[in-house]
Amino acid sequence: MSRSEHVDVAIVGAGAMGAVSAWRLARSGRSVVAFDRFAPGHDRGSSHGATRIFRLAYRDPRYVTLAERALPLWHELADAAGEVLLEQVGQLDHGRPEAVAEVAGALRAAGRSVEELDPAAASERWGGMRFDRAVAYNPDGGRCWAERTVAAAQRLAVDAGAQIHFSTPVDRIEVRSDRAVVHAGGSRWVAPVVVVAAGAWTGSLLDGVVAAPELLVTADQPAVFAARPDCGMGDSGWPSFLHHGDPIAGVDRPLHFDAYGVENPGEGVKVGGFNTVVPADPDDDSRRVDPALTRHLVDYVQQWLPGLDPSPVSATTCLFTSTTDDHFVLDRRGPVVVCSPCSGHGFKFVPAIAAEVERLATGSDQPVTVWRIDAVR
Ligand SMILES: Cc1cc2nc3c(=O)[nH]c(=O)nc-3n(C[C@H](O)[C@H](O)[C@H](O)COP(=O)(O)OP(=O)(O)OC[C@H]3O[C@@H](n4cnc5c(N)ncnc54)[C@H](O)[C@@H]3O)c2cc1C
Repeated sequence: MSRSEHVDVAIVGAGAMGAVSAWRLARSGRSVVAFDRFAPGHDRGSSHGATRIFRLAYRDPRYVTLAERALPLWHELADAAGEVLLEQVGQLDHGRPEAVAEVAGALRAAGRSVEELDPAAASERWGGMRFDRAVAYNPDGGRCWAERTVAAAQRLAVDAGAQIHFSTPVDRIEVRSDRAVVHAGGSRWVAPVVVVAAGAWTGSLLDGVVAAPELLVTADQPAVFAARPDCGMGDSGWPSFLHHGDPIAGVDRPLHFDAYGVENPGEGVKVGGFNTVVPADPDDDSRRVDPALTRHLVDYVQQWLPGLDPSPVSATTCLFTSTTDDHFVLDRRGPVVVCSPCSGHGFKFVPAIAAEVERLATGSDQPVTVWRIDAVR
């Protein structure tokens, strides 16, 4: 018979969402235990690599609001960590005019600065890039430091009193009426709330526990390209960018774009795109970089990014966990809070999502949940 431990909150997954949630809950005085199936700094999930794009620039105004909510919380997290976790070096959207106009409109409606330019004027200013049809620039965007944020949040959570058990997969969650029992590492952990922040493993973990929307796991394969010395981007470096292409087969998914880029200072510019996203099994240990997919990125860089050397410096794979409409799952059912599936665009919101997890987990009566499971079915 395994032994039972009792805590206020159990968290499955100590990646970006789970670690920042653990910090917030522990610093407010709750006893918190978190589990991760892998060792610290692993590259098997969704949060490894140097950077992610931070942007307020979304076509859907709800994400503009959520990113605005995240901004002061990023500063709070960075201050607590004593590290730079977010840099607002600017964000460019270009491509399909309707998509760029929607982004610009949503930013303007939120009272944010946005410059709309034609491609020739944009190429004058950002000589390392070619631009497609319409361009919008927002200075609030930029990059978050990804692995650094996860490591800092894990450290802060432990400093605040949380236990994190690495290399300890949660085998099973049992739901009783007013509590959950988490089975991990040969022990049972009983808690009034369990937060499922298991990224690509969320669907399998929730199976038979709570009804969740359909989740699709895919792998993206971004590559880093070195900037040419005369790349034409000036002293301020590369803003982050999204290239909005035309809808695929007539389907205009709300977040559709062809390619994205973000500078990893000291290394180059990470470029990824939806030609390099393929279905994936998170338990497949043999996942490797596919040279044929990297070739799509090399072609893209040759066509659109003359300021980069098209020989990749490095390439990696990373998992997306998506709903069918690219929105998030952030909700509570009984003792189970689900926060992780963020459809490949969640990192920028991590501190705001963790704040919402804290409210959901502690039963606050302020209903500020942004997306409920029902709403994304
Ligand atoms: C290539 C790529 C580019 C991206 N670019 C951007 C971007 O530019 N901007 C942006 O905002 N977002 C971006 N994203 C999305 C963002 O990175 C993710 O939304 C975010 O990292 C997800 O964090 P998470 O905590 O949900 O997942 P993870 O960090 O993967 O954490 C889940 C954790 O759960 C653990 N786990 C799973 N099952 C169990 C179990 N049974 N027991 C114990 N532990 C378990 C895993 O080991 C893992 O550590 C990108 C994602 C990818 C892959």
